[in-house]
Amino acid sequence: MAKREKLLIGSHVSFRREDQLLGSLKEALQYQSTTFMFYTGAPQNTLRYPIDLEITKAAREEMRRQGIDPETVIVHAPYIINLANVDEEKHQFSIRFLKEELKRCEQLGIQYMVLHPGSHVGSGIDLGIEQIIDGLNQILKDTNVMILLETMAGKGSEIGSRFEELHRIIAGVHEQSRIGVCLDTCHLHDAGYDVKDFDHLLDEFDRIVGLSYVHCIHINDSKNPQASHKDRHENIGFGAIGFEALLKIIEHPKLQDIPKILETPYIDRLYPPYKEEIEMIRARTFDPKLQEEIMKKQVH
Ligand code: FE
Ligand code: FE
Ligand code: ZN
Repeated sequence: MAKREKLLIGSHVSFRREDQLLGSLKEALQYQSTTFMFYTGAPQNTLRYPIDLEITKAAREEMRRQGIDPETVIVHAPYIINLANVDEEKHQFSIRFLKEELKRCEQLGIQYMVLHPGSHVGSGIDLGIEQIIDGLNQILKDTNVMILLETMAGKGSEIGSRFEELHRIIAGVHEQSRIGVCLDTCHLHDAGYDVKDFDHLLDEFDRIVGLSYVHCIHINDSKNPQASHKDRHENIGFGAIGFEALLKIIEHPKLQDIPKILETPYIDRLYPPYKEEIEMIRARTFDPKLQEEIMKKQVH
């Protein structure tokens, strides 16, 4: 792959019934993004509308005009899915739903789907990992989309907060060309890794999993101290990780071609911070008034 000159950065954006991928693209462009991520429907339910091929075609043409490479755009699987569940009915439901979700990715021309590996809900890590592997092998049989397992914060019985667990899952997957990883800076920090010493973290990841598996990075600050296992995202520079550490990750030479996606919280639960956060990242200078300023803009 040719080295990219421009920063590959974007955020989570919405995907609405009426304008689908075209609406997502427009939202991303409002934030001056060079890539983006979306759910193909509400993440907390399984209601899905059919993909409109006309809209998809128009969106892909517009992407070409705008210089956004569809190969870098990411879909996030709904978080109600839990492949790790030992309850056979729930496990099968997750597999069925993910297969449908992958078809939607294919219709949209999306190559990557980020997935939370799952929670063992009391049955233990070993059984949970077996279930995940079984599910992934059924799902990956008939798709050309790559599934990216997200590094988790280790909240409750979440699997995938340790590199060793991700390695065990990946080692059990038959379709090696369709399995990868999405690093999440907030989750890594909450899981106990020191993201401020990112070179060391990457070395460790490379040794245990392999750097070539990384195809996406979620860039989030964290509301909580390292190893808190909380998973509460914070705006860039306003949390326990801090601006300098996050900027270093965003600009890391080994991760240059990998899409960086912000999933930071809306200001006052209402106003997306992404345009301003991306601006701040491009300017390479933390703005401690950023949250306030976003609030002020809304008053007018
Ligand atoms: Fe996620
Ligand atoms: Fe994430
Ligand atoms: Zn999270």
